[in-house]
Amino acid sequence: MMTSQETMTTADEAIVSAVRAALSEQIGPARIVTEESEIAAAAAIWNGAVNHRPAVVVRCETSADVQHAVATATEFAMPLSVRGGGHDWAGRAIRTGGLVIDLSSMNGISVHDGIATVAGGATSEDVAAAADRFGLAAATGTVGSVGMTGLTLAGGYGPLCGSLGLAADNLVGAEVVLADGRVVRTDQDVHPDLLWALRGGGGNFGVVTSIEVALHPLAEVLVGSFTFPFELAEQVLTGYGELAARAPDELTAVVSIVPSAEDFPIVAVSATWSGALADGDAFIKEFTELAAPLAVDIAVMTPLSKLRQLDDVMPDGIHYSIGTRNIKVLDSAAATALLEAYGSRESSRSFLNVHHFHGQASQQAVGSAAFGRREDHLMIEMIEAGESVSDWTAIAASALAPHALPGGYPNLLGPDEEDQTALAYGPNASRLLDVKNRFDQKGVFQATALPDRRRP
Ligand SMILES: Cc1cc2nc3c(=O)[nH]c(=O)nc-3n(C[C@H](O)[C@H](O)[C@H](O)COP(=O)(O)OP(=O)(O)OC[C@H]3O[C@@H](n4cnc5c(N)ncnc54)[C@H](O)[C@@H]3O)c2cc1C
Repeated sequence: MMTSQETMTTADEAIVSAVRAALSEQIGPARIVTEESEIAAAAAIWNGAVNHRPAVVVRCETSADVQHAVATATEFAMPLSVRGGGHDWAGRAIRTGGLVIDLSSMNGISVHDGIATVAGGATSEDVAAAADRFGLAAATGTVGSVGMTGLTLAGGYGPLCGSLGLAADNLVGAEVVLADGRVVRTDQDVHPDLLWALRGGGGNFGVVTSIEVALHPLAEVLVGSFTFPFELAEQVLTGYGELAARAPDELTAVVSIVPSAEDFPIVAVSATWSGALADGDAFIKEFTELAAPLAVDIAVMTPLSKLRQLDDVMPDGIHYSIGTRNIKVLDSAAATALLEAYGSRESSRSFLNVHHFHGQASQQAVGSAAFGRREDHLMIEMIEAGESVSDWTAIAASALAPHALPGGYPNLLGPDEEDQTALAYGPNASRLLDVKNRFDQKGVFQATALPDRRRP
């Protein structure tokens, strides 16, 4: 996969040797990977289509290791990137010719007084499991293997979005290694602008070595899983759109079009009720009335079990590409456009998800966090999957433009989508760029795309 990051030249061998020598002395040679034969494996991420080749991968275990890595990269002017859970489809965790700060072994979690302190490389499942031991829940995404910090820094839509808000809305503190090598802690009283920027602005402000996440008393949720024949897709999509528009905060549902085990498309709905269990049946059962279902499964489970439901659905290593747009409503016109876009896919393994942003997520003030779009909406994710990828997701996303809100979800917008990135942060863009300028004036950290100040 070619991205704008690949225009980096391969670092000069002398610089690579100097970086390796400096880091070996500070951190120990066993955790520094520079050999050509090992670098591909060390740089492998979820998306097998990403073939960015870094010059050095450093497996950090402490904040001090991270400080050494940042200082060494800046001293030798080597581009750097941060690898958390490795699930960014565009591969922004890995910069060609650069130094990768791999946090995946920094994954410890402690829970005190309803707050989880989560090391920068922990997965969403690690956090859900730690919370579960106390009958608590975190606002995570839908898949457990996604990095909790990467998810949180740019947003974090998930099955508890209506009742708990985005993952970013639950970020109450962080420890960050800044571009100048300092380690700082931020919360609402200490460097509050930095915390504000981390709540949606992505990994653009430093290496986030740990985050503090608010947990919530929620031992069990009621989950309805429904499948419908593809022939009824328009009816299901528009019915889902109507239910979503009047859903209470406790109900958040995702509708997907996915390949079945036999490789023909089906429509799947996963609805999560996070209010009092006795009140949930009536809401969940409404989904059975969308159309004649092929299968219905309604069960009480822990938020952790809910997160594990999709463990095997999007395996690592095959080739992926993602296109995204936010739409205000899923009415008949939007459903038709969505189905037409889906119909033009080239791989039978491709699928699409519609995530619901509402309730607590949309009730936050626009200026409360960098995440810039607070109106109720549906976030569409079109995922191409196969042995290779085409430009289908970009074409499909463009086809939705007449129905779309300005901008899009920063975690999924590709590095070359400047038009949508310019709009993604709404009125927060200017403050976000000011904070970037204060904490990382030289642009050492380049994660999810930020708006360009020169664009309107
Ligand atoms: C299978 C799958 C399911 C997904 N489901 C959802 C979902 O339900 N909801 C949702 O909102 N999103 C979802 N996403 C998108 C996901 O949230 C983003 O891709 C997220 O950035 C992944 O974080 P990561 O740490 O796993 O990835 P990485 O590729 O490691 O990191 C992503 C970006 O964040 C930066 N970064 C990561 N950790 C740090 C850190 N500690 N400090 C500084 N920068 C850091 C990286 O440099 C990179 O730019 C999904 C993605 C996949 C592939």
